Parts: sequence; C-alpha cells; structure tokens
Amino acid sequence: MRFSGLRVLREGLTGNKGWTPHWRDPEPKAEYDAVIIGGGGHGLSTAYYLAKNHGMTNIAVLEKGYIGSGNIGRNTTIVRANYFLPGNSEFYSHSLKLWEGLEQDLNYNVMHSQRGLINLFHSDGQRDAFARRGNAMINQGDDAVLLDREGVRKYLPYLDFDNTRFPIFGGLLHPRGGSARHDAVAWGYARGADQRGVDLLQNCEVIGIDIENGKVRGVQTTRGAIRAKKVGIVVAGRSGQVAAMAGMRLPIESHVLQAFVTEGLKPCIDHVVSFGMGHFYISQSDKGGLVFGGDLDFYATYAQRGNLPMMEHVMEAGMTLMPMIGKAKVLRSWGGIMDMTPDGSPIIDKTDTEGLFIDCGWCYGGFKAVPGSGFSFAHLMATGTPHQTAAKFRLDRFRTGRGLMDEEGTGSQHNLH
Ligand SMILES: Cc1cc2nc3c(=O)[nH]c(=O)nc-3n(C[C@H](O)[C@H](O)[C@H](O)COP(=O)(O)OP(=O)(O)OC[C@H]3O[C@@H](n4cnc5c(N)ncnc54)[C@H](O)[C@@H]3O)c2cc1C
Repeated sequence: MRFSGLRVLREGLTGNKGWTPHWRDPEPKAEYDAVIIGGGGHGLSTAYYLAKNHGMTNIAVLEKGYIGSGNIGRNTTIVRANYFLPGNSEFYSHSLKLWEGLEQDLNYNVMHSQRGLINLFHSDGQRDAFARRGNAMINQGDDAVLLDREGVRKYLPYLDFDNTRFPIFGGLLHPRGGSARHDAVAWGYARGADQRGVDLLQNCEVIGIDIENGKVRGVQTTRGAIRAKKVGIVVAGRSGQVAAMAGMRLPIESHVLQAFVTEGLKPCIDHVVSFGMGHFYISQSDKGGLVFGGDLDFYATYAQRGNLPMMEHVMEAGMTLMPMIGKAKVLRSWGGIMDMTPDGSPIIDKTDTEGLFIDCGWCYGGFKAVPGSGFSFAHLMATGTPHQTAAKFRLDRFRTGRGLMDEEGTGSQHNLH
C-alpha cells in the first residue's frame, strides 16, 4: 500500500475502510540469514537497509516488547549534524542527508522539520569554542551561522538575555537542524522493512546467544530457538545485558534520561533551542506541546523512569532561560535508558565472535543517527567491512585508548557526556 495525497482523499471520502496494517505479524521461522536483536530505530533501520541496499530479505527483527516501546518512542526528537571531531562529523553529516530524503524513500510522513537549531553561549571562551565547531561543520559541508546577541534576539526574543548567571552572548545556528516525529520514524522503517520481506517479531525477547567454535549459530528467545548465520545486537540501553549473553563486557553504563511535555500552546517557539550551560533544551511539537529535557539522572539503572530531583533541576533551568515557561502546565514526563560510552561516541563493529555484530553506545544522541547507523551497520553486516562514514566507531578504541572521540572533552566520566 502506497501513501499519497490522492489516497488520503479517497479513503476520507469512502469511510477509511481501505487502510491495511503497516506490517505483518508473522510466526518465527526456524532459521534466517540474519537476525537483528532490538526493534528500536537502529534495529529497524538496519533491517530496512539490509533488505533495500544489500538484497538480504530472509531476516528477522526480534523485539522483546512492541515496536517503538524503547528510546525510539521516548526521545525529544532533535535531528542535527553539528559535530566537531573527525569520525563523528562525516557520520552525522551523512545521516542528516539520509534524513533529508527519508520521507520519499520510506513513502512515510515522519514529520521531519528543518526548523533550525540554536546552541546558546554565555562567555567569550564558549563563543570561541562554538566558532571552531561552526567552522568544522562548514568544512564538513554542513551549515552553521555564528549569531551575536542581537542575532539571537531576532529569533528568540522571549529569552532572558541578562540573567546574571548566564547572560546570553550569542548562539550557533544550524539551519538544517530540527526535529522529526519519533515513533513515525520507527513505524516508517518497520513498514519499509516488512514490505521487503523482513519478519518483525514482537514480544520475542532474546534470552541467549548460541555460539559454537567461535561462530554465532543463532539465538534463544521466549518464542523458541532461531538459527541465524549473522546476528546484530542493537538494543540501546540493554546493550550490556545482551552482549553479556555472548560473554562480552562492554564499556557501557546505562543511565536514565528524562523528557517533559506541556499542554498544547499556540506556536511560540520556532526553533530547537539548546542551553548547554544549564542542561536544558526545548522545542515545540506540531501539536503545540513544549517538549524539553535536561541532563542524565546521574546513576546507573535499567529502570525506564526518572527521579524528582532531576525534574526540579530541568524546570529551574527552563525558568532561568525563559521565565515565560513558568506559566505552562507540564502534562507528562517519561524516561529512557541511555547506553553511555566513556567518550560519548558510538560503537558499530564486529565482535570477536564470527557473525556477531554490535551497534550501540548512542548515549543521548541516537535518534538523529537512526538513518546513518542503520545504513552503515547494514553495510558492515552484509559486506564484513565498515562503511567509510562509520569506520572510526571501533570497539577496540576503548581497549587501546587510540581513536577515542571525546566530543565533550570530559574524559571517561559517563555522566558528563
Ligand atoms: C528522554 C530522551 C531524549 C532523547 N532525545 C534525543 C534527541 O533529541 N535527539 C537524539 O538524537 N537522540 C535523543 N535521545 C536518544 C535516542 O532516543 C537513542 O539514542 C536511540 O533511540 C537509541 O536507539 P534505538 O532507537 O535503537 O533504541 P530503542 O528504541 O531503545 O531500541 C532498543 C530495543 O531493543 C529492545 N530489546 C532490549 N533487550 C532485548 C532483548 N533481550 N531481546 C529483544 N529485544 C530487546 C528494547 O525493547 C528496545 O525496543 C533521547 C533519549 C531519551 C530517552
């Protein structure tokens, strides 16, 4: 079934009786050429690109809950390519290009909105750092505009510019940055993969990984054993637990990140605004809710919920930046489990077990990476060689210390990334 304006019109006039489910609900087969563990954004996009770019269609995505129940349906939807370090720059630049053609590619409205992202700065030193970052982005072929205080005021007149602790000196505008609708991205990739023959197996938790003589043979699941020549682990916050089934100990800590949304308001915030010094960022959804968040909850956990002190911290930061937000009513908050690496950069690599691959370590920035990660992980799984845009995301950098990509310059402290 293809979506089009004409189709929407026809269905609207005929009682919406012609729509069919987005994907099938198949029984697991005994064997696949490849299985992907994890039906989040990265797992689904990997399956989609394996089928689309590499002709591998005898594959299954194994999801322990339902499609979209993990971080892909819990994030604050920021899409950007404003990275500084080689290794990250080319990857996120490629991912943003994929975003720009995604709706046509998937024939699905993921509500990708390039409304512009503004990172605020509050000192001369921070201005220098953002100027360098902007130059790196431009060198990479992306877009960046350094705004002075009046430049920011033009776009964001409602901010408190003269806050004594964080007076606003200016901002770095990334015009192609923006947002997309998170669960539509999961549904779009799921539908695209299913249409190419991929089996999406929900309520199918992987509870063991079968390995013989250094080679992966398949997985044990709550719906029975499944043999597979290749297995990809793509489980975000559960990466440490699932990798342990294959005897691996990952350099990953799992931490909670919370998000908040207010009642629907008339359009008032046009951009995505990031207030890094206060650990606060905000945008407005198409429904009108202000969507915002802050920092990690600062303790390792697998619980998908946050705590009240961090909630208070985020609200304080919001009030510091834009006192007007105090009038809005917060309707909902939720948490997701982040797979934090020591250098804040991800892992897309083979493992020491033949046929077993891993894609993880997205920290709190993996939504924007969904197209690029699926594209390059599918390339690695299909060809056995890393894609050029993800060649630096090696697991052994944590063993050797060579090639660490520490975007924040905060060392191995997970909480500070
Ligand atoms: C509050 C919040 C705000 C965020 N904001 C942003 C943002 O603005 N921009 C951005 O780029 N990123 C953001 N992120 C990060 C982003 O959401 C994640 O990095 C990304 O979604 C992780 O990849 P995923 O979609 O594949 O994860 P998930 O959707 O979590 O997918 C992993 C899946 O694996 C499944 N699974 C786990 N164990 C098993 C098992 N044993 N067997 C089978 N299945 C299993 C889980 O059920 C889950 O569905 C945010 C995250 C949160 C929580």
